[in-house]
Amino acid sequence: MKILIANRGEIARRVIRTAHRLGHTTVAVFGDPDANAPHVREASEAVRLGPAALAESYLSVDRLLAAAAETGADAVHPGYGFLSENAAFARAVIDADLIWIGPKPDAIDHMGSKIEARAVAATAGVPIIPGFSDSQDPAELMAAAEQIGWPILVKAASGGGGKGIRIATSASEFHAALSEASSEAQRSFDDGDVIVERYITEPRHIEVQVVGDHHGGLAELGTRECSVQRRYQKVLEEAPAPNLPELTRRGLRQSALDMAGAVGYDSAGTVEFIVDDKTGEHFFLEMNTRLQVEHPVTELVTGVDLVEIMIRVAADEQLAACLPDDLAITGHAFEARINAEDAANNFAPQLGQISMLQVPAGVRWDAAIEVGSEITPHYDPMIAKLIVGGSDRETALAALRTALDQLLIGGVVTNAPLHRWLVDATEITSGRVTTRFLDETDLSILDDQTRTVTAAQQAAELWVRTTHAAAQDVPASPWRARPTFTLSRRPPTEHLGLRRLGTNEAAFEASVGSHPAPSVPPAAVVDLGNRRVAINVNGETFAYELVPRSELWAPSAADRAGTGQALTAPFPAVVAEVHAQPGDSMQADDVLVVIEAMKMLHSLKATGTTTVDEVRVAVGDQVASDQILVTFLTPTDSPQSTEAKAET
Ligand code: ADP
Ligand code: ADP
Ligand code: MG
Repeated sequence: MKILIANRGEIARRVIRTAHRLGHTTVAVFGDPDANAPHVREASEAVRLGPAALAESYLSVDRLLAAAAETGADAVHPGYGFLSENAAFARAVIDADLIWIGPKPDAIDHMGSKIEARAVAATAGVPIIPGFSDSQDPAELMAAAEQIGWPILVKAASGGGGKGIRIATSASEFHAALSEASSEAQRSFDDGDVIVERYITEPRHIEVQVVGDHHGGLAELGTRECSVQRRYQKVLEEAPAPNLPELTRRGLRQSALDMAGAVGYDSAGTVEFIVDDKTGEHFFLEMNTRLQVEHPVTELVTGVDLVEIMIRVAADEQLAACLPDDLAITGHAFEARINAEDAANNFAPQLGQISMLQVPAGVRWDAAIEVGSEITPHYDPMIAKLIVGGSDRETALAALRTALDQLLIGGVVTNAPLHRWLVDATEITSGRVTTRFLDETDLSILDDQTRTVTAAQQAAELWVRTTHAAAQDVPASPWRARPTFTLSRRPPTEHLGLRRLGTNEAAFEASVGSHPAPSVPPAAVVDLGNRRVAINVNGETFAYELVPRSELWAPSAADRAGTGQALTAPFPAVVAEVHAQPGDSMQADDVLVVIEAMKMLHSLKATGTTTVDEVRVAVGDQVASDQILVTFLTPTDSPQSTEAKAET
């Protein structure tokens, strides 16, 4: 069979892997920024869809179907995100006489609306969160909220990925929550409808993996804990969910089967629940009619390959033939989503090129990236998943800690330091987390840069001392031929310095002279060869290059443009909104421009009183890092600067 994978990144590669193992051939598709991406190379063949814009590439049903026709594909796997939960796409695939490797379109339809899904759950006897979805009239929604009781959650009916969700803790907040949730939902899902629900104040997010076939076969593969979330997006997941009363666990698994049965589910999917940590009650949240990002933790504890099951049941095989007779949940597994974002800096998206990558042995690494990969603003920030298993929870968590200590990702800041911190947090080690945990944690604790940099530098110095103590130890050195170097009578190490790589920072000198060896900081040190070393301190990667001291004073990174008199883009992005007009006077916190990168909106705000001079961009413009967006007349009081803030 020839399978077209209508996706990109790690999930495209993951599907390709299983497809090839099963003897199928594959077709990758790509938007221009992905022309050199690993998934394009790894598939049997690849088809260009179009430019970066999603509507002209990964979200273009026409182009995907054309690619399938052109290559003679027999089947389509949608991955997750993009068109995976788009019933119209599933139908178009089926109408084109292709096999849809996913659930039947009707099930996608029924579960795609949270309003309808709640009704299905209620009919199936699955507990739902007290809520209201009978009307979109603001007054009726408000009355329902009053009756349910505060706090209330307003949620997009067509929502996904945590978008279009707002809390209202009292009647006075309801109106703002309603309009924000609704407009975000309209923007993201082209559907402004919402539901109101009781906000569970100590919620755990626990979900159950289900699989079904075309013959009525159905099974559940146990629970996953996904309560470590930031802004309703999962960060760290595990299987099985820890610390669950046996009654709750059984209830969850039965409810998942009931739900899947109610829609005649016939592929891999996930039923999500909220568990009230105070009472142990569980409530249906939604059903995701696709393969999920965190499916590998279930694969590790069950030994099944969920993509294999999806492919085989799509080809009409019986589920029973795809599952082992002795199916059981054994051991424990964790998945850390590695995102290109700076957790210590309000999760600002990070762009750039991966300059180095060292993945620890003995882990599952499902990644979009390799050395040289460019992290662009066009796609979401998840660049890899680090998945580890163990015989029990403690062992698996220790393995994750070790893996994070060894993982090296150079060139782009990632959230690995957040994960490194998480694995030691009491909430995680005890397995007692609610979805509020991360949002309520002050993550400035991660921002101990000076100490971290010092530790990395000391580790690098130690590396120089132990492996490159003498000039002879620097093999085939390009500067060795320099007369000033070879003729020198002073100890050769005095001529060496360390230059930090992979940052925009000015080069700095690290003395590797004859002072006493620094004490060893808690760091993993990896000799990369070529006189380069990578150091992992607390999940963050630092890379250094051994260079002649004379080279340490190379020109420093360019001064950042536009300080004071101009608003500049903090990273490459697309302009989403322009609020500043020439002549406008702005106050601190007024939003000047909103830019979009990696599916997040960032408001760039004024920090003081000023008057707008020129507006140099318009909605839809692509802007480069440091590009001037708006200029100001001389500010009268505080200097002008900018603030990027994630809005969604
Ligand atoms: P999971 O429960 O598998 O983590 P998420 O809801 O986080 O699922 O979404 C998985 C992926 O799909 C993420 O990359 C997310 O950005 C993307 N995604 C989710 N919903 C949508 C949507 N409606 N449109 C486009 N992308 C989406
Ligand atoms: P999405 O489609 O965006 O994934 P969900 O309905 O799955 O939306 O909700 C996303 C997250 O929001 C959940 O994982 C949970 O953390 C939180 N959440 C949703 N509903 C409630 C609720 N009623 N009370 C408390 N938290 C909730
Ligand atoms: Mg969800």
